[in-house]
Amino acid sequence: MIAEIICIGTELLMGQVVNTNATYIADNLSQLGVNAYFQTVVGDNVDRIEEAIKIAEKRSDLLIFSGGLGPTQDDVTKQTVANCLNEPLVLDQEALEQIETFFKKTNREMTESNKQQALTFLNGRSFQNKNGHAIGTWIEKGQNSYLLLPGPPKELKLMLEDSVYPFLEVRVGKNRDFIISKTLRFYGIGESTLVNRLNDLIEKQTNPTIAPYAGEHEVTLRITASGNGVEECEKMIKKVTDKIIDRVGDYYYGEGYNNSLVKVVGNLLRDNKKTISAAESLTGGLFQSQMVSIPKSGDFFVGGIVTYHTEIKYQVLGVPERVIKEYGVVSEECAISMAENCLKLFGTDIGISFTGVAGPEPLEGNEAGTVWIGLSFKNKDSVAYKYHFMHNREGNRQRTVMQGLDLLRR
Ligand code: ATP
Ligand code: MG
Repeated sequence: MIAEIICIGTELLMGQVVNTNATYIADNLSQLGVNAYFQTVVGDNVDRIEEAIKIAEKRSDLLIFSGGLGPTQDDVTKQTVANCLNEPLVLDQEALEQIETFFKKTNREMTESNKQQALTFLNGRSFQNKNGHAIGTWIEKGQNSYLLLPGPPKELKLMLEDSVYPFLEVRVGKNRDFIISKTLRFYGIGESTLVNRLNDLIEKQTNPTIAPYAGEHEVTLRITASGNGVEECEKMIKKVTDKIIDRVGDYYYGEGYNNSLVKVVGNLLRDNKKTISAAESLTGGLFQSQMVSIPKSGDFFVGGIVTYHTEIKYQVLGVPERVIKEYGVVSEECAISMAENCLKLFGTDIGISFTGVAGPEPLEGNEAGTVWIGLSFKNKDSVAYKYHFMHNREGNRQRTVMQGLDLLRR
């Protein structure tokens, strides 16, 4: 199956908005084993959208649209596709009720144009929008299938993950061999090093294929196998995965497209019934924010404190003034004292601390990117580790949190 992604929006053409939807959809499609050979961007203009549809129909089986499903004058995608296909639109009752409820609850007046967002193809199907109002729609006509998705990325993502992706999986599975992929995630190793260590495997493998991707401070490998059934594919994937783990298992932290280091650590803490608290300096609450991003994080994350100013480190957290005077805030001693005092203050099993130089300026004679991470435990000696990161200010802060999570995972 060949797909074409058609993103609609004048703001995309003008360069005011980055086309993240295309990237996101393309990545999803390749995981499904669908080849997307073309991406088109077209403005909010009926004639030009029609032209884009005509071209795409000739060279692609599946046309995926993003944007232009809203209630305003310039949102014309659905109507234009309906006109091109000569297919009637009807109101989707479930979506309409949701929109009506929203307007009632928020005490706002609902206009006729809001109903537009609940229109669906009479001969197609809908995908409900759990983050907004405009429903997604699907219709097949002749050799082509048409999928219409809302423009706002958080609406599009949730819809894809929640209902479209599973739906497409079944459709794609019917039309061709089974294609299954698995994502392996690595932290602490660069993409080029990882690829180097697996070079022969990557080059030799045609089924499953191994595709490396560099993410934010991590690397992922997507293993994709095609075969006659799920079981066969999974067996092939496992064989390759075992070989990979054998070589670079030290850096492997988990699998899954939607997985992350913080999720792995959260699950680990929950499974082991351990609680944690954090004292943060250069990370300014970033670690705590990551912890709280996990649903039911209260099971393991108790609380924390941001001690940015030096005085706050001793006045509020109780790091002895002597430690700071003697060793400085960017030191093993300060990191350990921060972690230990935090553990005491919050009464947790683990206390973690982050202190260092985010940059761009040096601090206490330490270069930007110098970081100490301290760990204290209820029944074990405290430790601290030193790192030298080479990112910009934001990157150093993010990397520090990732490194802290990686320490907790081990
Ligand atoms: P709405 O109901 O908000 O009008 P819509 O489905 O009509 O949604 P658009 O009006 O096309 O979608 O886009 C809404 C917003 O979503 C845009 O202002 C833009 O910020 C964002 N957006 C749209 N398309 C993309 C895209 N391809 N990539 C990233 N962001 C996008
Ligand atoms: Mg719109």
